[in-house]
Amino acid sequence: MPLYRCLTRVEIGDGGRTSFWHDDWLPGGPLSISAAALYSHTTSPEATVAQALAGGIDSILAPRLSRVGARELDSLRAALDEVALGDGADRRSLTRCSGPRNKLITGALYRLCNFGGVSSANAGFIWRCHTPSRVSFFGWLLTLSRVQTRDTLLRKTIVDAAGAGCPLCDATLETASHMTLHCPVAARFWSTVGVEVPRDFHVRDLHLLPMPSSISMETAPTFALLCCWQLWKQRNAAVFRGEVPSLPLLLKLCRDDATMWRGRFPDSQRSHIDAWHVCLGGT
Ligand SMILES: [Zn+2]
Repeated sequence: MPLYRCLTRVEIGDGGRTSFWHDDWLPGGPLSISAAALYSHTTSPEATVAQALAGGIDSILAPRLSRVGARELDSLRAALDEVALGDGADRRSLTRCSGPRNKLITGALYRLCNFGGVSSANAGFIWRCHTPSRVSFFGWLLTLSRVQTRDTLLRKTIVDAAGAGCPLCDATLETASHMTLHCPVAARFWSTVGVEVPRDFHVRDLHLLPMPSSISMETAPTFALLCCWQLWKQRNAAVFRGEVPSLPLLLKLCRDDATMWRGRFPDSQRSHIDAWHVCLGGT
């Protein structure tokens, strides 16, 4: 779904099936990009347009905003004043990679995913995983260092150098590699599941990170993405909700996802997920 969102625009009806932050439904494009500072303060990244408008924009934001965030909120309030929800369903149409009758052209999508022909070594690794599409999309952005870690916010001048440090340790710059691989919180996690992360390993090489030998080759890429996905969610829980990172909780959430994702694998590989549970501290 996240990839599909990048390719589509929504004409708002009742707002019930449109992501407030991630869909392209306002003239300026997705708010997670056009109002990135404000988005970094949301407490509900998955809110629909209907939910955000019913509860009011303040209901999905942290109480204190940065200066840039407050400015973006002012502009957004003006844009939201123009929005009136209707009774019908939201209507989504392809704006990229579309062919006759608004059908998706997969060849064009492949070229887009490879950034105009510059292919990513991770592309096959990510898109062949048995992850939910939102996790695949996250993985793709992660390996390109395009997730909203603080180095990215620094580049966009949304935070200054003093605000670009890791929220979970005293590292002076939070990068995608730091957050998922080298932050002490992440390092403890990887060590517990039996993964030795080489020093200076970069997240763009995630497909080369050696997984524990008990994890089958067929399921290893999905296992790696699952771990990164939960590390990202834990980081966001700490940043946006002030939750204290907990290794036992992180492992449990990974095991829960492993259980849920089992059905996404072919029958012949489903039993491989038992080994995931053992690595993740289950029995
Ligand atoms: Zn850190």
